[in-house]
Amino acid sequence: MPGPLKTEAVVLRSLRYGEADRILHLYTPRRGKVGAIAKGVRRARSRFGGRLEPFFRLHLVLYEGRSDLLTVTSAETVAGHPRLRQDAGALDIAARACDAVGRLFDDGEPHRGVYHLLANELALLDAEPAHATRANALAFRLKLLLAAGFSPQLAACASCGAGEHLVGFSGAAGGVVCAGCQAGSFRLDEPAHEFLVTALARPLAEAPEAEPRSLAQAERAILETLEHHANVRLRPVGQATTTLSGSARTPTSSRGSAA
Ligand SMILES: [Zn+2]
Repeated sequence: MPGPLKTEAVVLRSLRYGEADRILHLYTPRRGKVGAIAKGVRRARSRFGGRLEPFFRLHLVLYEGRSDLLTVTSAETVAGHPRLRQDAGALDIAARACDAVGRLFDDGEPHRGVYHLLANELALLDAEPAHATRANALAFRLKLLLAAGFSPQLAACASCGAGEHLVGFSGAAGGVVCAGCQAGSFRLDEPAHEFLVTALARPLAEAPEAEPRSLAQAERAILETLEHHANVRLRPVGQATTTLSGSARTPTSSRGSAA
């Protein structure tokens, strides 16, 4: 059904295309991930200005024609997050958040919760770049799992239901496992388990802190859950990100790593 589509969106990626255009990967509240083309955006006098860049939250009017790509006809800034862009640590965590959303969901798979989670994360990093910690990045990924319906079982053994002696984590089983079911799992100590439970329960701005060792175990639990249930492999938080826009960017500092 061709016609205009008015929507909010967060720009996940922005790629140069042709002489003056950009291809955008957007996340929207009602359509989920969509691809769009912005024509002439790289010309100096473009009416879009510089706002079709990663991390911008926008009001867009998109024209839906016969192509898979929608065409951007109007763009207004809801939040440009300028402070986030000036902090290497915040930029790194924001890039990972957009990358995770882009890879976890296929086109046309809407999750309103994901849109709000991503918007909250970007607003938080912009308001206070000191939130750009490994703990924050892991809390974001956990909440993303929850919003996508892949939340790990944390209250009882994912294999037998036992509520005690929870000593390991198994991505295949889907959560924590007890001493009797630990074959194929890795060790998850009490502080790491506590981190996972608390990070899911609290708002992003109040993500708990934990020792590097516990964060490493929590991270492994998140990565294995993603791999087993969503077939998505994300880079660990401590590793450098790839470039999100078409332009070269030097690897950012590893301020997000608690090590
Ligand atoms: Zn068990």
